[in-house]
Amino acid sequence: MKVCVVGGAGYIGSETVYELIRNGHEVVVIDNLSTGKKEMVHKSAKFYLGDITKEEDLKHIFEQECMIKHFDVVMHFAAKLIVPESVEKPLEYYHNNVEGLRILLSVMNDFNIKNIVFSSTAAVYGEPNKDICEESDLTKPINPYGETKLVCENMIKWVCQRYDMHYCIFRYFNVAGADETLEIGLDKSNLTHIVPITVETALGLREKMTVFGNDYNTKDGTCIRDYIHVQDLAYAHVLGAQYIFENEENLLLNLGSNNGYTVLEIIKEVEKYYKVNYEIGKRRAGDPAKIVASNKKACEKLGWKPKRTLSDIIKSDLDYRMKLNKK
Ligand code: UDP
Repeated sequence: MKVCVVGGAGYIGSETVYELIRNGHEVVVIDNLSTGKKEMVHKSAKFYLGDITKEEDLKHIFEQECMIKHFDVVMHFAAKLIVPESVEKPLEYYHNNVEGLRILLSVMNDFNIKNIVFSSTAAVYGEPNKDICEESDLTKPINPYGETKLVCENMIKWVCQRYDMHYCIFRYFNVAGADETLEIGLDKSNLTHIVPITVETALGLREKMTVFGNDYNTKDGTCIRDYIHVQDLAYAHVLGAQYIFENEENLLLNLGSNNGYTVLEIIKEVEKYYKVNYEIGKRRAGDPAKIVASNKKACEKLGWKPKRTLSDIIKSDLDYRMKLNKK
């Protein structure tokens, strides 16, 4: 397939580009480099600087590329994704995530490109009242980030229905870890996620970390999340793209592990290597107590299964951060 990866210089986008190339696909990356880095883009991918909220950028790139060969699939990773930031800056989130997608879909339609793979999130479920989330469950986001993604999911469904396009929407749970080559991973700037923060604290790059609340209704009072290795997640995108391209069908799939871990369990796992200096703080705005994926549908539809465990995820992030900080 010839695949256009929008946001292909970011953490998950760049990993997906690696997996696409490993699986023999041709890749074109578009990224505005606002958070992504050019050096994260695989050498075999073609790179364009462009912003999805600027229609003329996309049109210009699609014109050049589609003259040579049509894109079979567009993958869209160019979104803002930090829950507390979305609570602070909701308008930025609506602009970038919702308006950005509207423009992308409109340009795809102009160029008659029929398949989109879209990054959505577990945050669309909000505060689930079930132990494990299934795709058919009620969606009721409790923060602007989740809300923008739900609006996007619905936009994709309506647009695909109208213009005879197909989609694969993935709802990500908590993604962590680095590529097996340790060439790419989550950059050290603006870290907000629990795994890299815990690892950095263990490595002495932070003096201390805070656990956001230990008064939730969970086994140790800290929030439960479902962690998935970025390379397992990226590989699912290759399979999802192939599936909709070949079968002309739509997919909506959770990408998680079926297992949940508390914040204190993450710290304990990291402490198998180094001590972590932490304190218990207040709850963070927008955090649900527990969110765990059922990945049954992804396994059935794509024949996919996460290969890496929580220990692998922690080890991978640790190795990557040690490498980054040696530089
Ligand atoms: N968390 C924490 N301390 C931190 C960062 C995160 O206690 O410094 C908690 C956060 O409150 C949530 C869990 O770790 O309960 C996962 O948060 P993260 O930001 O990694 O991902 P999210 O689930 O918000 O997408």
